[in-house]
This record gives sequence, C-alpha cells and structure tokens, in this order.
Amino acid sequence: MGVELKPLGVVCNIQCHYCYENPLRDAGNKPAAYDMDAMKAAVLREGQPFSLFGGEALLMPKPDLEALWSWGLEQFGRNGVQTNGTLIDDAHIALFKRYKVDVGISVDGPAELNDARWSANLAKTRDATARTQAAIETLCREGIPPGLIVTLHRGNASADKLPALCDWFRHLDRVGVRHVRLHVLEIDSPKVRELYALSAEACIEAMLRLLALEQTGLPALRFDVFDDMRALLMGRDEKSTCTWNACDPLATQAVRGIEGNGQATNCSRTNKEGIDFVKSDAGGFERYLALYRTSQEHGGCRDCRFFLMCKGQCPGTAIDGDWRNRSESCEVWKGLFEHLEQGLLRAGELPLSRRPERRAVEEIFVERWEKGRNTDIAGALKRLASAAPASPTEPEKPGPMPDFTRVSWIDDRARDVWQPRLARIATAWAEVEWLSVPAGLRACAITTLAPGLFVQRARAWAGLGLGALPLSVHGRGPLAAGAAGGIAVPRRIDSFRVAVAAPKDLAALTHALDRHDDAAISDLLGVPACCAAHRRRLSADAALDPTWHIVTGGPPRAHAPDALHDNDARIVDVHGPWQTNILWRWLGVRATPHLPCGLDCEASRDIADRLCELGGQAGYDQEMDWMREILSWPAEWSALHGIAIVSTPILKLATRTDATDRKFTVRRHGDDYPAEGATGLCFPYRRQAAHRFTASRAFGIGTEHALSARGALP
Ligand code: SF4
Ligand code: SF4
Repeated sequence: MGVELKPLGVVCNIQCHYCYENPLRDAGNKPAAYDMDAMKAAVLREGQPFSLFGGEALLMPKPDLEALWSWGLEQFGRNGVQTNGTLIDDAHIALFKRYKVDVGISVDGPAELNDARWSANLAKTRDATARTQAAIETLCREGIPPGLIVTLHRGNASADKLPALCDWFRHLDRVGVRHVRLHVLEIDSPKVRELYALSAEACIEAMLRLLALEQTGLPALRFDVFDDMRALLMGRDEKSTCTWNACDPLATQAVRGIEGNGQATNCSRTNKEGIDFVKSDAGGFERYLALYRTSQEHGGCRDCRFFLMCKGQCPGTAIDGDWRNRSESCEVWKGLFEHLEQGLLRAGELPLSRRPERRAVEEIFVERWEKGRNTDIAGALKRLASAAPASPTEPEKPGPMPDFTRVSWIDDRARDVWQPRLARIATAWAEVEWLSVPAGLRACAITTLAPGLFVQRARAWAGLGLGALPLSVHGRGPLAAGAAGGIAVPRRIDSFRVAVAAPKDLAALTHALDRHDDAAISDLLGVPACCAAHRRRLSADAALDPTWHIVTGGPPRAHAPDALHDNDARIVDVHGPWQTNILWRWLGVRATPHLPCGLDCEASRDIADRLCELGGQAGYDQEMDWMREILSWPAEWSALHGIAIVSTPILKLATRTDATDRKFTVRRHGDDYPAEGATGLCFPYRRQAAHRFTASRAFGIGTEHALSARGALP
C-alpha cells in the first residue's frame, strides 16, 4: 500500500459483486476526465512512488500510462499497478518492464472460483478469468511475477471449493508466483452477505487449510497474512500491513488516494456512504481508544489478549459498516491468532499475547493515541525495556476520551467554497456575541477571540464603557511551565474565552461564577429560563454532549432497546426551525449563544432572530445568510462508544461524546441543499436519480448465476 493514483476513479471493465467500491458506483459518483498535471503535482506532494489503481487502471490509454510511468520512473525509480489482469497484453508487459512497474493482480481463482468477479455474462466472465490466468503466467515467464490479492468467500473457499483452490495455488507456485495476500471478504450489502459470506468457522477452516498448504505443499509461494500475524505475536510489527496498524478512518495514513483531479482521498474501504471523502487534515486514533474501552459484547475489543496485534482490524470491515465498531471478522482473526499462538508455544516461543508485559505495552499505545500519535509494538517494547522496572500493579482504568473534533470534506470543491465561509461565520458570530451587550439584548456575553483580535477589541470595549474578563486560554502543545492560578496555559495560544459586560455586570458575573450560581449566570448571559433549567438537569446527568437530550428530552440510556445492532430502533427523525439547529456547533455555526432546551423552544428562536438582525446591522448580512442556509440543510448526528459523527451535505466531522454501548442517531431533516453538496447512499445526502450500479441488468445476471450455483435458484 502507499500512494494509490486513480485516474479513472472507480470505472472498471468488470462488475465484481463484492467490490468495496460498489457504494461509490451506486451513488453515481463517477469521476470527470483526469488531469495529468494535477495528478503529478499531487503525487509530488505525497513524495512517494505511486501505484495506479482503479476501478481498472489499465483502461487508461497506453500513451497516458507510458507518460505517467516514465515520469514515475524518473521521479522515484519504480512504479506499480493494481489490476484485474483481464486487459494485460504484450504492449502492457513491455511497459511494465521498461518502467519497472510492480504488478498486483486481484483474482480469486481459476474458472468458476473467480465467478464473483463477474463480467456481463458467464461466457465473458470465464473468458476474462482465462485472460487473467494467462497474464499471470506470461508475467512469470517474463521474469516479473505479479503479487496476487485473493479474497476468500463462498465462491472459492467453501469446503467443496477448497481442493480446487489449493490446486490452483500449487500451480501458481510452480509457475513462479511468490506473494499472495489473502483477504477476508468485506461485506457492504445484504446481497453480498447472502451470496458470498462464509461462516467464521468456514473461513477459519479455509485459512488453516491454506496455512497447512503453505507449510507443506508450496516450496516458494507465501501468504503474507500468516507471516504478519506470527510476527505481530512475537512483537515484530515494523513491516506489517495496514490492517493491523490502527488505521485512522478519516485519514487512512497507509493509503494515500489521489483522484484524477489531484484530490487527496482515503482508502475506498472506508467510504460506506458512496462518497470519496477528502482526507482529514488532522490524524487521530479515537477508534482505537474507543475499542480499547468498549466491551466485546458491545462491538469493542476490551480485554482481548490479541488487541495489541489486531487493534480491531481494518475500519473498512467494521460491524454495521461503522468504524466505531471492531471488525466484523473478529472471530476469524481471533481464531487464527489462537491457532498461531499455540503453534509458537509448542515451538518454545512466548508470544506477547501470553507475556506479563502485554498490559504495559497496551498502556504505552493508549498514551500515544491519546496524544494523537501512533506507535508500533517493537518500539513500545524497546521503550518498556529501557524504563525502570515497575512493581506490578493492576492496570489503570482508562480515563475519559480526550477531546477532539476532526473534519473530512466531501470534496475539494465544497471545501474551497465553504471553508472560508465557515471561517467568516465564526468571526461574525464572535462579534455578534459581544455586540449583543451594548445593543441591550443581554447583560453579559462570553466570546472567543484570537489573541490579536482580543487586544484590538479590548480597546473598543473600553471606549463603549465595557470591561473584559478572560475566562480560559485555548491552544496546542503541552501546558507552559509556570501556569499559575489554576489556569491552564498551552504553549501555543490560539484563542481566549472572554466575558464582556459593563463593569457592574462583570462584577456580578464574577461573583456568580465564584459561587457556581447557575441561575444567576444564565440570567446575566440572557439564557431563557426554560433552557437554563434544562442545562441544570443536564449537568446532573454529567452529559458531555447533550444533543440526544435536547432532541428527545432525556438521556440515551432511557431510549435503549435491548437489541444491540437494531440501530434503526434508536433513530429519531426531527424537523425543526433553523434557529434551534445545534448540529453545527462544533464548527462555530449556531444561531443562539446557549443550547436550546428543545428544537421547538420559542424563546431561543426569538433570541436567534434578534441576534441575526443585529449581525446584519453590524455589516454581517452575508455571514448571517450563510448561517441560515447551513442550518437549514439536513444533517445527521450519531453517537457510539464515545464518538459522535455529524454528517452534513458538505462535510462530516467526528468529535467526542458520551460513551454509549449502542448507537443513537438523530436525523435532522432540512428544507435546503447546497449546490456543492454530495450525492450519497444514505441520509443526509441527496440520492442520484439514475439506477444504481448494483441494480443493473449485467450485475443481476451475475448474482442470479451465483444463487443458482449454490442451488438457491431452480
Ligand atoms: S481502510 Fe483498511 S485497507 Fe484501507 S488503509 Fe485502512 S486498514 Fe488498510
Ligand atoms: S480479535 Fe476481535 S476482539 Fe480481539 S482485537 Fe481483534 S477484533 Fe478486537
């Protein structure tokens, strides 16, 4: 894995039934023409060799392939391509050799074993498979053997198919294939589950059979998954593949996707909505902190002795397609780790899963992840070895999830249009907050300002007879030495949170803050009595994120039906005025300074209208219009395992919320949708009008064939 350059996006010449790019095809998100200069510039930004990817990369005209690979050879000394192999001809092979192109081929076996990689009808499918097989053999003869990716499923790895699959691997070994990556099927739709899913037992059985084959019947061919897993168990993970390395689903560091227009995207495995999101600017490991804390019964990995090695596995394979859960192939991986662990014990080795220092290594990982950094087992073991020996203690109970908010845009266009607008709205709102005081709308305001602006505004406030009381300092980096008076001061200051009011009101606010007198504080800040009372009830619940309370009137626990994965039972659909839309508040887009007590709170609507009017009078008409527009769009908030995801037409964000075992979802319906908004497969996205790819006739013929091959059709 590395830089995956996708000039043609997901365009392909065949129709694999289980392809993890089918959600993108179903959503109709096809790429426009590619731009060679934009792609090259994006590759240079990544600074690494690239592999052409698809869809099917070899659909690209040969002159363009040659132009890219000759440039790639010049820049990086090598190239790569991942292909289904059906189009490879002599001219391609000449290009591979001339430009040092490593070839990866995705194929699931010979003849019927590869029928899931469908191509219009059975005859064409078998013909395509034969061409792939011939290409593999030619490449081996030419001295450039391809690496293969083989996905295990019912069509090639059920008990009746395994002998043929083993024969095929023996044949591949003889012709010169050396590396095969085995994939466990990623299931993105009920149809794929029905047609191709193996039970966990059957999948383990298939894997173990292939492991035995590797040990006894394949002189040279290696399945890298077993080497990876053994090395992980022995604490040697420097070279392990991405699926074991705490992949951040918002930034997939191991896969740097580049689209035909140069846009940087994530590994497509994470795109369940059918949208190729832009990489989040900031990386994070909240998924792994959440899995470490969450019981296995509820979709996490707590107390699994293989957590260090597995880490919940690839987020693209998560239960319910929700990366806040562990992989749905957990049973398979656990079964294989157990088997390999036993083998190592029998050979006199002591795997990390059985060593007393396992917990201490886990704590090193957690500490790093809490700081937003990753590590590896080998590094953590070294660190442990160099630390002073500690007396054995019970592992500490993990503390709360660190605060974070990370954003992924749907594409560069939406970001170019809306990111500056969001910044202008936030600036305007900070002004409106304090302007509400001299305008007589409330006695005190609390606003957040950058340091330079704070200095500037302090002079303006003095001129208006207002004072300022700094409440907290926000920024990055460790706390500066000498932070005093109980106020935490980060080394790099981004902003100050400041109360602004006439001196007598500021004195009253200080007094109320000192006494924790919430009623008096709310009164001074102009919070309606109903919302203030609601906030007091919330603080009794100690809620970090009151979204669910505000929408439903109670905490999540009170609404939790028993069925763990019946997520639909915990979805609430709401319609409400834009003034009480609270789902954009993490990005500073909100129409009231306080959190309303409910979506129908009249007092909050009234305050929002007056503040927007004030914003208009202060010269922020445009910003107030954008704010009204954004708050009128549909948006979804969902919470699971302490992570909230807010999806909107132009971006999604992940942030901290209260930890729940079950998933809770609020869908706020809107009455507007931005021109730049995404087309996707689920709420809140606009759906494409045309037919879905997986509903096409060719695709349907293939799935009927798969059903009849299983005897499920007459
Ligand atoms: S989503 Fe999965 S396959 Fe993709 S980079 Fe992450 S771990 Fe690897
Ligand atoms: S084996 Fe299962 S429980 Fe253990 S870390 Fe992997 S996914 Fe989590």
